[in-house]
Amino acid sequence: MMNVRKKLNVLHNRMLQVASYGNRSPVSLGKPFAFQIEATNYCNLRCPMCPHDLMEREVGYMSFDLFKRVIDEVRDYSTEVRLHNMGESLFHRQIDQLIDYAKANGIKTVLSSNASALTERAAIKILDAGLDELLISFDGASKETYEFLREGARYDKVLEKVEAFLALKEKRGARLPRVTMSLINLPMTQSEIETFRARWEDRVDSVRIKPARNWDGSSARINGLVNLRAARPPESPCSWLWTSLVVLWDGRVVPCCMDYDAKAVLGNINEKSLEQIFNDEPMQELRRQHLENRVNESALCRGCAWPTKMDGPLVKGISQVMQGVSRAHEKRAQSV
Ligand code: SF4
Repeated sequence: MMNVRKKLNVLHNRMLQVASYGNRSPVSLGKPFAFQIEATNYCNLRCPMCPHDLMEREVGYMSFDLFKRVIDEVRDYSTEVRLHNMGESLFHRQIDQLIDYAKANGIKTVLSSNASALTERAAIKILDAGLDELLISFDGASKETYEFLREGARYDKVLEKVEAFLALKEKRGARLPRVTMSLINLPMTQSEIETFRARWEDRVDSVRIKPARNWDGSSARINGLVNLRAARPPESPCSWLWTSLVVLWDGRVVPCCMDYDAKAVLGNINEKSLEQIFNDEPMQELRRQHLENRVNESALCRGCAWPTKMDGPLVKGISQVMQGVSRAHEKRAQSV
């Protein structure tokens, strides 16, 4: 349970982020969420809709000390962290310790897995550590589709692991992790959506038909497979840039999870705090590119089909209130 102080911190931080975005300021007054912390970028599969094989950066595993540093920084105002990015995090030997440390600091943990490494040992580890949410990317209701989309995995074997995990969870009477079975929404999976839902909806906590991504839009193979509308620059500044960051296994920090190959590195947690990186010049320049209709200058954002938005009366209302608060602060400071 979150204590009152943390709840207020979370709310205050969120309001500052919203206000900075609403005011279209290149500086975000809020502190950044570490949306995803990449435990590893190693993966055993070669899924055609994923740019993992196009990634040129070194493969590695985040050290526990580095992970602690990130959690220690964000714990007072963050409620959730995702322990995955461009790899299969169950291969991180200390995954249970990462989960445990985040939870001990009041942060909910979410892990996305292809479940091919969900052995009994791994299952016990994540159950014991109290993982809050497990997202299983099980992309296909038929062996044929599954083995095309999850190249390198065998349908029957992975299904067996998922079944064994669910049985173990039930045997232990464990409430956590909440399990979501997800199917990627592609032209080729359309005909399997209903079968997938029917198969899983009574067996897990939720079923998700996950929107396909085109990442930074640079791969013809992925663009062809996901068949998204033509990549276009965002219509309004992407609100993501005012709220969150992604920390890679080696400590480098990138704007969001679309940056699979670290094309837009903003800084390194080994050298600076996340808070400093969040308003350093590279981040401010990226925000300015969005604010000044210069998104085409960003190798990362210009081809992205999923910019996020925060708009509407709430954003405007919070911005006005926060402007009023900052004017009152200035007045008070002048009168002292
Ligand atoms: S526009 Fe797309 S790539 Fe750029 S920060 Fe937003 S979500 Fe990420």
